[in-house]
Amino acid sequence: MNDAAPNAAPQTFYLKDYKPFGYEVESVKLTFQLSPNATKVHSAIRFTPKADAEDNRFFLHGEQLSLISAKIDGSPVTARLVDGGLECDVPRTSFLWEAEVEIDPAANTALEGLYMSNGMYCTQCEAEGFRKITYYPDRPDVMSTFTVRIEGDEPVMLSNGNPTGAGEGWAEWHDPWPKPAYLFALVAGDLVNHPGSFTTKSGKDVELNIWVRPGDEGKCAFGMEALKKSMKWDEDVYGLEYDLDLFNIVAVDDFNMGAMENKGLNIFNSSCVLASPETSTDANFERIEAIIAHEYFHNWTGNRITCRDWFQLCLKEGLTVFRDAQFTADMRSEPVKRIEDVIALRARQFPEDGGPLAHPPRPEEFQEINNFYTATVYEKGAEVIGMLKRLVGDDNYYKALNLYFERHDGQACTIEDWLKVFEDATGRDLSQFKLWYSQAGTPRVKVTEDYADGTYTLTFEQSTPPTPGQPEKAPRVIPMAVGLLSPNGDEVRGTQVLELTEAKQSFTFDGLASKPVPSILREFSAPVILERETTNSERAFLLAHDTDPFNRWEAGNALAKEVRVAMVLDGAAPDAAYLDALEKLVRDDEQDPAFRALVLSPPSQSDIAQTLHERGHTPDPQKIYDAAETFTQTLAQQLETSLPRLYAATTVEGPYVPDADGAGKRALNGRILSLLTRLDGGEQAARQYASADNMTQQYAALAALMKAEKGEAQSKAFFEQWQDDRLVMDKWFALQIACAAPETAAATAKELTQHPLFSMKNPNRFRAVMGALAGNHAGFHHASGAGYQLLAENLIALDSVNPQTTARMCAAFQTWKRYDSKRQAQIQAELERILATSDLSRDTHEMVSRMLSA
Ligand SMILES: [Zn+2]
Repeated sequence: MNDAAPNAAPQTFYLKDYKPFGYEVESVKLTFQLSPNATKVHSAIRFTPKADAEDNRFFLHGEQLSLISAKIDGSPVTARLVDGGLECDVPRTSFLWEAEVEIDPAANTALEGLYMSNGMYCTQCEAEGFRKITYYPDRPDVMSTFTVRIEGDEPVMLSNGNPTGAGEGWAEWHDPWPKPAYLFALVAGDLVNHPGSFTTKSGKDVELNIWVRPGDEGKCAFGMEALKKSMKWDEDVYGLEYDLDLFNIVAVDDFNMGAMENKGLNIFNSSCVLASPETSTDANFERIEAIIAHEYFHNWTGNRITCRDWFQLCLKEGLTVFRDAQFTADMRSEPVKRIEDVIALRARQFPEDGGPLAHPPRPEEFQEINNFYTATVYEKGAEVIGMLKRLVGDDNYYKALNLYFERHDGQACTIEDWLKVFEDATGRDLSQFKLWYSQAGTPRVKVTEDYADGTYTLTFEQSTPPTPGQPEKAPRVIPMAVGLLSPNGDEVRGTQVLELTEAKQSFTFDGLASKPVPSILREFSAPVILERETTNSERAFLLAHDTDPFNRWEAGNALAKEVRVAMVLDGAAPDAAYLDALEKLVRDDEQDPAFRALVLSPPSQSDIAQTLHERGHTPDPQKIYDAAETFTQTLAQQLETSLPRLYAATTVEGPYVPDADGAGKRALNGRILSLLTRLDGGEQAARQYASADNMTQQYAALAALMKAEKGEAQSKAFFEQWQDDRLVMDKWFALQIACAAPETAAATAKELTQHPLFSMKNPNRFRAVMGALAGNHAGFHHASGAGYQLLAENLIALDSVNPQTTARMCAAFQTWKRYDSKRQAQIQAELERILATSDLSRDTHEMVSRMLSA
């Protein structure tokens, strides 16, 4: 099935056109008669016209539905089917609308609405999937209570809220909390539960369940603990308590997103909930803990207080990402979490902000809202909240949040509502701050300094390059956290937040005995690109002395980038002073292993390309790859005599525990092993592979061997061992492409698309292969154009199966204007080929058009 509207030009929706729905929805009753190809959905909905309605049109969304009958107050009526739904003449007083429709869950490969995954019924309604279930005002500002009856022969049949009755072949559910349709959920299938319980701070017992397919019961314990920790944390930190008797999580194999926060019935991509030491890496455990927290936290920030319209998506997502980052920082290491988040922001959001897909956290128009579940809405949306918290201070932040929950519980809100609570709680004018929500693009902040007679002056100049539709930008409020160090390494001024509000602005610091070394943008206090003339020796000084852990890492990261950029541009040898500094740090057992692992992890090749582009150079992917290889090889040689000792010292003994300490040590151990494998022919990695009793160590050994082209036997063994585990197989698919040399990456990916276990219908598997290809920078951008061609062919094939995943993966091409004219021409040809595909989905059409038109 397809989302396309092939005859009509795609419709564009605008924020400025918002109008409330003309009817209250008093209650919704749904009855499902499940059948794979012919599920019947009966709806009984009580509508009341609003006295003050601007618009009385009775329009219900509906797509891919077969309407069997429609009634008002028990009498048949004629509904007019129109583009995207139906219209009907209705009474001017309260009335009961009833409709019966038929849908085909088994044919629904788009995975929106009600669909089937491995014989199990499940739903995904955010953003606009409910209209594929029945006719309804499918918009987030329409909230109502739902009663659901499910009829079928599935052993387990679940919906939102609390169970109210069940018998042979039926189950009934009632959700007392009014909610928008995008939070509706239904699951039915042969499932088993991993039970748990939680007592809330007011003493209410809540039953918890994680529902999985038989055989996966052993992979639920970690997720259950993460859920309980999340419930406790939200009570302790935000004072927010859970509000139903039951909380269900279901794991589903075929899912477009990570997970979905449906009220009382979260549905998870199985990769984001199932975990065991044998099958999951440390990174998987951390991500699962964070996603379980994220979806749970939505119960208040998203469900109880939702969005008025989809333009406000970052209201719930930015805030909830910010909350889950706070949670992870509390559960694990605050600096490590911050560093990881900034690496991800630069890898995903900065390229988006700097390319043809740039949009503000609150976009003002869209054709397909599914295309706006982006790093800008989520991660930059969270950064904006972090800045707000920094500007008003912690106490005021929680004061404002309390007011938000008090004032808006049960409402569908806007960014204006959100900022207003901060203004009312703090008395601060946030009109200039609001530009962060409406302006796209990453601000660049140029810093210059001056020192005379004990006074040190920092001057900041901010500017934001043009983005599509926004040629001019006004200066924003930028919180700039700054500290000063004396040349001997002491901190002479602790962290202070300077508020930039003008295009150019200076700040002075008096009474300094000598010219200080500034530590600027501590904790990455704003999502900006800092430009400052500095030296490698100053960076090395900050790497050794900065008291702000983020900026210590940042100094090392900047140094690594400088060295790499010099290698790419001038063919320079790896900088000896930097290699010495790295060696010193990695051998310093006093330092946190997780921090050492981060410093030892080189900037990604795509990050180097982005840096070159920001400085006005055209990145050459092959040269960037060669520089990375030369650097790593030189580093391995420099560390040669220490590597065996370091490897032994960082090996974690005893049973595997997925905690932050162990994960930090294993991360460092994995980095050491990959360097060692370059020198010892893979002996140590082969030993580790053979003896590993957990996936983190097994995977690290396999990756080191495959990267060194010595892992053929282990790769075969891995396949034999894990071929029945879909999640582990995703790793196996991805790793082969990630480790491939530039000239073979596309061919490797192509071969894997012919593998019997490759499937277009499973988004995880498709992403494992095509996402890994796009992630192999030099391979994807290989001069032959084979990478571009293969991705385009697969996107064209996937579009008719799953438009949402296709459109999202198109973003792999978004940086195309960075590269040389030959590569640009190759990519342009592929984008045009995609656009020329007949019956292309609205989702993909919009993404490709935006990339081509900029
Ligand atoms: Zn979310």
